[in-house]
Amino acid sequence: MRAIKLTEVGTVREVEVDRPRLQHGEILVQVTAAGVCKTDVSVRSADRALVPLGTTLGHEIAGVVAEVADDVEGTTVGDAVVVYPVWACGVCVMCVDGRQNACRSTGGRLRVPSAPGMSHDGGMAEFVAVPARWTVSAHDVDPALAAVLPDAGLVPYHAVSTQLHLLRPGSTAVVVGVGGLGQFAVAILRAITPARIIAVDASPRSLEAVGGRVDLAVNSTDPDAVTRILDATGGHGAELVLDFVGADATLALDGRVVAPYGAIRVPGLGGGVFEFETAQQSRKLPFGTTLARTYSGTLRDLVELVELARAGRLDVDLVRYPFSDALQALDDLARGDVRGRAVLIR
Ligand SMILES: [Zn+2]
Ligand SMILES: [Zn+2]
Repeated sequence: MRAIKLTEVGTVREVEVDRPRLQHGEILVQVTAAGVCKTDVSVRSADRALVPLGTTLGHEIAGVVAEVADDVEGTTVGDAVVVYPVWACGVCVMCVDGRQNACRSTGGRLRVPSAPGMSHDGGMAEFVAVPARWTVSAHDVDPALAAVLPDAGLVPYHAVSTQLHLLRPGSTAVVVGVGGLGQFAVAILRAITPARIIAVDASPRSLEAVGGRVDLAVNSTDPDAVTRILDATGGHGAELVLDFVGADATLALDGRVVAPYGAIRVPGLGGGVFEFETAQQSRKLPFGTTLARTYSGTLRDLVELVELARAGRLDVDLVRYPFSDALQALDDLARGDVRGRAVLIR
């Protein structure tokens, strides 16, 4: 079969490989669609191996069950599935509490659980072997949309689902960075909360793409950006700020627009540093704000998200490529030429 692999540092190629052999607890998924993420671009462009050389890329996977290991029950050949990308231990106290993205068995507090396309072969191939326990039924969901749910959808879903108590009628959510993940955040906020939604981005094209789905679109390069956001909330600020960029400048903006006792959630991996000011008269941060980086989502989050997709409640832009154009998709993404989420389909 064909697979898209990191063959050496700086090089991703399509190569011919054997079909995976199943281990205990695994199923073989015939991939129908695979999302393409900026992480895949980073894996290709990095000057060191961010994943083991020879790894098949792709952590957003939808497909059809093609084979089932002898010890697997409850899954049948022909079932449509999406792959939950957090391959946690499943038995630690966090996992049994349903918080697989905070699994205690990762080997260190700064490490995350294994993932397809990172520590195991991923979905940019004709077939991929995955643990049966980490799959979710995706029947009646368009494979292209199903494929991008496990990352582009799950990350914002988790960031929103953990803060639903803040998003009451009259509340405001600010989405900073409305590319692939930010677009999902807008759709999810619209589908499951009554919040006013403000989109913030430096790119007029990105703002235009979500323009009809948000209450206010603000260009972050506008010197009045903070004022415009605060004015829209009556000066109080936004109960939830989701930052999909995570750069110095966006983190500073987050602090200046968040409401007292609001939340800043930062899935973005931009390497920025947040300045936490404690003065009584702080001009940067109100009292009570919580700030957290968030990683992926829980299995429950993915199950709920698939339900939203099945119900037709996720209005997002997908940019479809045939599998044979996978490298082109990476090039386009690297140049910032993709409006919405890129997905490979068969
Ligand atoms: Zn990703
Ligand atoms: Zn665990």
